[in-house]
Amino acid sequence: MSAVLGSERTGEKKRLLSGMQPTGNGLLHLGNYEGALKPWVALQDQYEMFCFVADWHALTTLAGTGESIADASRAVVLDYLSAGLDPDRCAIFRQSKVTAHAELSTLLGMVTPVSWLERVPTYKEKRELVAEREHEAAVSYGLLGYPVLQAADILLYRAHAVPVGKDQAAHLELTREIARRFNHLYQTELFPTPQAVISEDTGVLPGLDADAGGKLRKMSKSYHNTILLTDSADTVAQKLKGAFTSPLKVRKDDPGVPEGCSVCQLRRLYDPSGYSAQWDECRSGARGCSQSKRETTEILNAVLDPIRARRAVYASDPAELERVLERGEEKARAFAETTMQKVRETMLLV
Ligand code: AMP
Repeated sequence: MSAVLGSERTGEKKRLLSGMQPTGNGLLHLGNYEGALKPWVALQDQYEMFCFVADWHALTTLAGTGESIADASRAVVLDYLSAGLDPDRCAIFRQSKVTAHAELSTLLGMVTPVSWLERVPTYKEKRELVAEREHEAAVSYGLLGYPVLQAADILLYRAHAVPVGKDQAAHLELTREIARRFNHLYQTELFPTPQAVISEDTGVLPGLDADAGGKLRKMSKSYHNTILLTDSADTVAQKLKGAFTSPLKVRKDDPGVPEGCSVCQLRRLYDPSGYSAQWDECRSGARGCSQSKRETTEILNAVLDPIRARRAVYASDPAELERVLERGEEKARAFAETTMQKVRETMLLV
């Protein structure tokens, strides 16, 4: 999967940090599963995993909106467990329960030039979004400092690796620069420079709709075009019925355009061996959209069924969910404190 795995030390697993924000009620979708959760589940054997819910990060866009970050965080944890993250192999925790994230963020802020933060592309995008939604003055220090908190999240666990989507390797670069700058300033090797673990086989899942120009776009909470991991089999069937297909294919025997059809694209991702014949049939008019939708519904429900079964176990036992979080948060706090002691010593605070 990545060069990081090849350099694993014998007898001691390297550490990997992964996390997700509890925005949009915390309900994760099939894109989150394919692009993030599924690769994480595959990595939990090879790495010592720390897997967190980035609840403070969610406040960079949700502060004052009235959304319950606590409820959304719990929903994310439930999705982590339903997807197959194993609390015996992976510490699952909420960022806000390990306050050392804030301490390290403050200290790393002292060695991070503002110019590095101002040139982060996601800062520029989000700044425009917030300024549009509210006004320029609502662009918070938290939004600018987001990458410092993110660096603290990773460096607190002295993580060797961070799983990132194909298009997101650049997100890690600032954390690497901050780690290098800290190590250089203090002539230390305290922080390993974390490597991106990019899973090769993950494509971007299309959503169930198209944009104003009739083009497919990625499955995303912001577009409300998702299949949620919490959706029932019937809901998936309903959503697929309404999914975007070629507008020119009105009757079954009209020729379709599978490249521009969300149902055909989803089918292609899940059934790479059989899709070409079906696409030919779609193009020639031998296959109708209803048949494609029915079959794709079945394929997607087969992917979601084991996730639903694991969810049912945890949903019926909220006390177990609490125990999972308590254990994960205790482990994270203990590890974080060993890092912070070294950081305080290195920075001549003690
Ligand atoms: P987001 O909350 O949109 O930042 O998504 C969290 C993670 O889920 C991202 O880092 C991606 O790895 C993954 N992800 C989100 N949407 C998709 C998608 N449509 N296809 C594949 N992966 C996705």
